[in-house]
Amino acid sequence: MKIVLATSNQGKVREIKDFLRGYDIHALSEICEPFEIVEDGTTFQQNALIKARAVYSKICELNLQDEFIALSDDSGICVDALGGEPGIFSARFSGAGANDASNRAKLIARLKELNLSSSKAHYTACIAVASKFGEFSTHGFMHGTAIAQERGENGFGYDTLFVPDGFELTLGELDDETKLKISHRSKGLNLAKFILKNLQQKFESANLAATSRAKFKF
Ligand code: IMP
Repeated sequence: MKIVLATSNQGKVREIKDFLRGYDIHALSEICEPFEIVEDGTTFQQNALIKARAVYSKICELNLQDEFIALSDDSGICVDALGGEPGIFSARFSGAGANDASNRAKLIARLKELNLSSSKAHYTACIAVASKFGEFSTHGFMHGTAIAQERGENGFGYDTLFVPDGFELTLGELDDETKLKISHRSKGLNLAKFILKNLQQKFESANLAATSRAKFKF
C-alpha cells in the first residue's frame, strides 16, 4: 500500500513524512500535475475529506487504486479571544494572496486591536483517508496560548506565535522533535495509524487473492 499526500504545504508534508516513517509516502506531484481543490466545507473534517476524495479520484482516473490511498490534513488555529477565528480559514486569514507571514501579521493586529498580548488558543488537525476500502478520519488537538509577538524561526504557519501548554517557548523556538511529540497533527496521525495498519492488511489480502486467482485461473 502506498500513500499519496493530498497537500502541497511543505510544512505539513515534512511533519507527516517524519511521523509516518516506515510507510511508503508519495507527494501529489509524483502521480499528477497540481490541480485546484475547492475547500468549501464548514468544518476541518469536511475539508479534509474533500481533499482526500479529490486526490482519490485522481488515483482512480490513473487506475492506481489497487496500489494507492489518499491521505489529507486539514488544520488550523482557533483563538479564543477572536471567537475561534481563524479556524478553518487559517490559511486564508489575511485574504487574497495570503501567506504565512501576512496571516501572522493579521493575528497579531487582531490581538492588539483588543489590547491583548495573548489569548488561549488551540490547533486542530483532521486527518482523512480515502481508499478503495472506504473513507476514514481522525482528529488531533494541541492547546496553548497565541501571543502577539513573533518568537523563533522553526515550524511554519502560526508556530512562532503559539506557546503549547506546559512550555514557555513558542513552537518557533522549540525543536522539530518536540513539536512532533505534542502536535495536533501527530495526535491525529497517531490515531490514523490504526486505520493505515488495517488498510495495509486489506491490501495484502486482496493482492494475495488476486495472485492466487491468476495462478489457478479461477
Ligand atoms: P489548510 O492547508 O487549509 O489545512 O490550512 C492549514 C493552515 O493552518 C496553514 O496554512 C497554517 O496557517 C495553519 N496551520 C495548520 N497546522 C499548523 C501547524 O502545525 N503550525 C502552524 N500553522 C499551522
